[in-house]
Amino acid sequence: MTGKLTLLILSLAICFCTGCAVNPITGEEELMFISENQDIEIGRKYAPEIEKQLGGRIDNPDLQNYIDSIGQKIARISHRPNWEYHFTAVEHKMVNAIALPGGHIFVTKGMLEKLTTEAQLAALLAHETVHVTARHSSAAISRQMGLSFLFLGATAAGANIPQDAGRAAAFALQLIGLKYSRVQERQADVAGMDYMVVAGYNPYGAVELMQMLEDQDKVKPAEFLSSHPSPENRIIYLNARIQTRYDSSEGLRIGKNAYRSAVLNRLSKDPIEISPLDHLNN
Ligand SMILES: [Zn+2]
Repeated sequence: MTGKLTLLILSLAICFCTGCAVNPITGEEELMFISENQDIEIGRKYAPEIEKQLGGRIDNPDLQNYIDSIGQKIARISHRPNWEYHFTAVEHKMVNAIALPGGHIFVTKGMLEKLTTEAQLAALLAHETVHVTARHSSAAISRQMGLSFLFLGATAAGANIPQDAGRAAAFALQLIGLKYSRVQERQADVAGMDYMVVAGYNPYGAVELMQMLEDQDKVKPAEFLSSHPSPENRIIYLNARIQTRYDSSEGLRIGKNAYRSAVLNRLSKDPIEISPLDHLNN
């Protein structure tokens, strides 16, 4: 490595090194090389590219408003209620959800078609919201993208969008493929359940979400199944948390018919008719 290159890396590293940050979920200090402002900048600048790579947003404003309204309910009671959150449904067929630093959360059509209740959707969005509030993506970027972040991401956090569209696309792909650690996934599962319950949703939606993901033996969501812990373990500890903390989930929302009419019927060529009375039943 030439002296000049070393100097460049060092100066970039100093730029990006903001030392430690407190994880609001655990209350503990963690090493963090990306500032909160850079989180927001990365999200803002790369969300359009990532949306494009995920097939573009689903062209249905009512469906988008529904997804966003549930996401916003969760975001407002989260550990970072003042950040700006965007919850977007995208056309991609894979079963997945993606959280960018700074509050841009995407859920794929493939995933939406697999869910059956609003509580399951709330569980999914709450899980992704924890990845944002605990800044898991920023930690994953530091760990997995390393120098490529320093070179490519430098422009993301600075004043200019990369001139080279190919490099921007490559950076966006890396963001989509970020993997969280086992500890981070467990934090997102457990704190996500707390978020959804505070927002008024039945916590069994989280268990059902994990069961659905476990049944996905062919389509492995990059976000959920490629990382540890295994879905079976997640079902066990989520059920245990319900027993110890949310034993009485009576009155908490499930929203089966609401989800059918707001999402499934809008995605389906053969919508199932729901009478207004059905909405009163859950
Ligand atoms: Zn996750």
